[in-house]
Amino acid sequence: MYKTVKFGGSSLADATQFQKVKNIILADDSRRYVVVSAPGKRYKGDDKITDLLYECQQLAQGGAPFDQVFGRIRRRYLQIRDKLNLKVDLESELSDIYHIIENGASPDYAASRGEYLNALLMADYLGYRFVDASELICFHDDGTYDDETTQARTRMLKKLDRVVIPGFYGKRRDGSVRTFSRGGSDITGAIIARATESDLYENWTDVDGFLMADPRIVPDAKVIETVTYSELRELSYMGATVLHEDSIFPVRKARIPINVRNTNRPEVHGTMIVPDVMASPDRDCPLTGVAGSRGFTVITLQKDNMNSEPGFAYRVCSVFARYNVSVECMPCGIDTMSIVSSDAQLRGKMDAIYHDIMAECIPDTVEIASCIALIATVGIGMVRSRGTAAKIFSALADADVNVRIIDQGSSEMNVIIGVEQRDFERAIEAIYRKFA
Ligand code: ASP
Repeated sequence: MYKTVKFGGSSLADATQFQKVKNIILADDSRRYVVVSAPGKRYKGDDKITDLLYECQQLAQGGAPFDQVFGRIRRRYLQIRDKLNLKVDLESELSDIYHIIENGASPDYAASRGEYLNALLMADYLGYRFVDASELICFHDDGTYDDETTQARTRMLKKLDRVVIPGFYGKRRDGSVRTFSRGGSDITGAIIARATESDLYENWTDVDGFLMADPRIVPDAKVIETVTYSELRELSYMGATVLHEDSIFPVRKARIPINVRNTNRPEVHGTMIVPDVMASPDRDCPLTGVAGSRGFTVITLQKDNMNSEPGFAYRVCSVFARYNVSVECMPCGIDTMSIVSSDAQLRGKMDAIYHDIMAECIPDTVEIASCIALIATVGIGMVRSRGTAAKIFSALADADVNVRIIDQGSSEMNVIIGVEQRDFERAIEAIYRKFA
């Protein structure tokens, strides 16, 4: 049994957090492949090292002095090293980084040093081997991730026992450093878990796991014990995030479960994210989670005999495609069709889309409703349990929420409901309380 374990920035923010991480790793012999983020915030209002590194690069690029900001970075690392009595020669590493930034380093290079230095410290602290991510993670020259070369490079990891790898970055073919988007150490962890054929990818962070609902709306929302990859995708898409969205794909393909855990409460089991086949078909509760976001517009077309007009849907969709606007969902009736898109995508394009639809689809009426929130009520258990829809809609009726749209995904594990934005919080809370 092998595990890849990834620790986020708050889990590695200072020497005390490093000690917790070491205890976690030593408590389980199978935790062999360790991926680390850069030190994050120690308290509210504190700096994240990654942000400070970007700031140094920006200042240097503008020809401004960055010694003061760099000094804050230096102190954070030296403090960790000295409190833990480590031997890493940080002074010369930091002085190299300082000079490279001074001489025009890219933002990606500057930011990557946060993970690089933290991995050097962690490798020394654990007595594990340090393997630089630039030897493993590859990017194409245009900056997109190169999975094929990465798979070839990371194969060697299986021969190594116990290693520490910095998250977040890799390199292009020309040798320049390239990072993933923010929070990208999660992706590195997933890639390493797949390369090492780990049985489990543990993602250690500062929350107990995924919650069944946004805690800003439902403060006592319970932790989801098990969620499938597909359910998670539906929930994350609607705004519930703990993991970087792209971190799911490498492990999902390899059918490696992810366990989200809390470094500050290792006794809590966290959330297990499993391939669909591993999920128990008869969970007690048909609802896995409820999530949503605001900022959608619904365009409803009505036309007599729409159902018998070949190509109607095609013509509507091609108008949206022409303006590069993606469609979130399309609930249809016999003579009506609603198209839901985000306000952000429609911005500045609505008049042109309206004009083209009128000209090409010739509907009898078009109604446009903005300020709509979409809510995803997700659970694989819904397929088998009778009365789920009745429960959802009675909860909404009891909470005096007017439902504007209903769309059941064809996977039958997600009922999407559109409500007025002002009813958004009330609707989420009502659905959660009905099931939880
Ligand atoms: N340190 C990077 C960030 O703050 C990457 C990560 O933590 O995953 O975004």
